[in-house]
Amino acid sequence: MLSEKLCAAFNAQINAELWSAYLYLSMSVDASDRGEKGAANWFMVQFQEEQDHAKIMINHLLSRGNKVVLKPIEGVRTSWDNTLEAFKTTLEHEKKVTSLINSLYELAIEERDYAAQNTLKWFIDEQIEEEENVNEMIYQYEAVEGNRYGLLMMDKELAGRTYNTPSPLAQK
Ligand code: MG
Repeated sequence: MLSEKLCAAFNAQINAELWSAYLYLSMSVDASDRGEKGAANWFMVQFQEEQDHAKIMINHLLSRGNKVVLKPIEGVRTSWDNTLEAFKTTLEHEKKVTSLINSLYELAIEERDYAAQNTLKWFIDEQIEEEENVNEMIYQYEAVEGNRYGLLMMDKELAGRTYNTPSPLAQK
C-alpha cells in the first residue's frame, strides 16, 4: 500500500493527467473548427495518451490496495489562433507536468516507496519525450509560418500520427 500522503498525491496526478487529456481534446476540436484535420488528429492521439497516463496511475493504486478518488476536472481553454499557438501552450503545459512528476517522485523517495518510484520512472522518461516532440513541432511550425503550402504539408504530416498504447502498464 502507498502511504496516505503519497496516495493523495497520486490521486491529484490522476486528476492532472485527465485535465491534460481534456486540454488536448479541446485543442483537437478547435483544430477541426479551423479545418486542420491533421492537427485535430495529432491532438486526438494526445488526448488518448493522456487517458493512458491516468490509467497507469489508477492501475498502480488499485494493484496496491489503495483507493482511487476521482475529483471534478477543471474547465480548459477552448480556442487558439493557430496550431503553432496550440503547440506553444502544449509545451508550457508539459513543462508544468514534468515538475509535478518530479515532485511526486521526490515524495516517493521520502516515503521510501520503491514500487511507486519504479512506476514514476516511466513518467520521467515519458516527459522527456513529450517535451522533445512538442519542441520539434514548434520548430517546424515556426519554419513554415505564413507559408500556406508549408502549413498544408505540416497538417498532412500530423494526419499520419497513430495511437499506440504507450505502455503495457496502461492495460489491465
Ligand atoms: Mg501526461
